[in-house]
Amino acid sequence: MERSECPYRRVLLKISGQIFAGEKRVGLSKEAIQYIASEIFRSVEETGVQMGIVVGGGNIVRGTESEAMGIERVTADYMGMLATVINSLALQNALERMGLVTRLMTALSMSQVAEPYVRRRAIRHLEKGRVVLFACGTGNPFFSTDTAAVLRASEIEAEVVLKATRVEGVYTADPNKDPRAKKLDVVDYDKMLKDKLGIVDATATALCRENNLPLIVFNFMRPGNLLRILKGESIGTIVKG
Ligand code: UDP
Repeated sequence: MERSECPYRRVLLKISGQIFAGEKRVGLSKEAIQYIASEIFRSVEETGVQMGIVVGGGNIVRGTESEAMGIERVTADYMGMLATVINSLALQNALERMGLVTRLMTALSMSQVAEPYVRRRAIRHLEKGRVVLFACGTGNPFFSTDTAAVLRASEIEAEVVLKATRVEGVYTADPNKDPRAKKLDVVDYDKMLKDKLGIVDATATALCRENNLPLIVFNFMRPGNLLRILKGESIGTIVKG
């Protein structure tokens, strides 16, 4: 197939757990997994971009809700990290059924299920055109998968982090609460941190700033949006220096 121009050689896509739940809000939705996989499939097929993926786990367990679960925070965080493996396996299965070659690497070792994360091996997989899924976040409690996405992106020298969400981008305030909230096309790291603009947590934003890594927040639920970004269209909000 003729490949489209893509301004990026290597990208890191972050998909929050919420998207895996589809309309159900919790757990896994067959339709949602199919949708996620098909958007990734056509984007990779059409552009030939090297893609790493970090998957969240909030549709199964969120460590920050440990109190509500009656489980201590660190244990709940490990449960959250394991939840990302469940989502990643589901996505890996769907991508491979479509014909993509993938590898799953985990920050916590579980050698019967996936490869341990080794930076050089991850880069090698990407260079060979394999889609690499990074699970278990950073492998440490008290972090988020957003931070893991920025960390892995920096390690594999991705040119951009693409944060797939269900909203159009970063807003000046919560659009569900404030009718005057406006979507921003561009926002710098300092403003994100100073104004505590939501969507991406502060640790992840600070790490982006540290590494001068741009991050695009976009609505993944609009079919074709991921591909449009990979073709260089300005969609969502770009967070940069
Ligand atoms: N988590 C963690 N360390 C990490 C990444 C994730 O402890 O490096 C845990 C944390 O409890 C988090 C859960 O895994 O709440 C699921 O990840 P996250 O909330 O980032 O998923 P998302 O909101 O993207 O679905």
